[in-house]
Amino acid sequence: MTDYQHHWKDGTAVRLPLGKIVCIGRNYAEHARELNNPIPDTPLLFIKPATAAVHLTRPLVLPQNRGTVHFETELAVLIGVPLTNASEKEAQRAILGYGLALDLTLRDVQNQLKEKGQPWERAKGFDGACPLSPFIAAERLKNADHLTFSLDIDGHRQQTGNTADMLNPILPLIAHISEHFTLMPGDVVLTGTPHGVGPLTSGQKLTLQLDDALFIETHVA
Ligand code: ZN
Repeated sequence: MTDYQHHWKDGTAVRLPLGKIVCIGRNYAEHARELNNPIPDTPLLFIKPATAAVHLTRPLVLPQNRGTVHFETELAVLIGVPLTNASEKEAQRAILGYGLALDLTLRDVQNQLKEKGQPWERAKGFDGACPLSPFIAAERLKNADHLTFSLDIDGHRQQTGNTADMLNPILPLIAHISEHFTLMPGDVVLTGTPHGVGPLTSGQKLTLQLDDALFIETHVA
């Protein structure tokens, strides 16, 4: 069970429910290559349920005895109004805030599912599979198309991303998603991970940074 609630950086609650988290796989070419995956011609979409969300600022509790858990550091976009078949302009107006997320992935389970051609929910939808940071109001981040973000583990840089390197940039991605799933206020879009993914283990200290706007320290329980 989760008691997750969206928050702003100043600690106040965002008064919107979290319905779903829509994610894209392979949105950075170098990450697709590191896992030997082809780059899809249409965006590879999947959904994490609201029950996957937890606060990134709290100790991360990993599933036990289900194989390797990988971190994937991603820019998270908080949606503020309903979007169906949205234009990029409508997508732009619908963005309420930006934050960081870990798309936690049971990599061994995912590899087995891929082999069998089965969906990924068991690997990516478990309780705690989506640690989310507090959000920064969209109007305070004007450069969303070239934002840098990073993850350090125990003081070593593991991942550096720049939203300029996305194969499907934020606005076309949200517009595309809204052709397939209506996005509701409080829903979150995860925009894919850059290269450098790897396993998490108990006791690791994680530091995440989004531009000069967000700085989060957490650890694996
Ligand atoms: Zn991901």
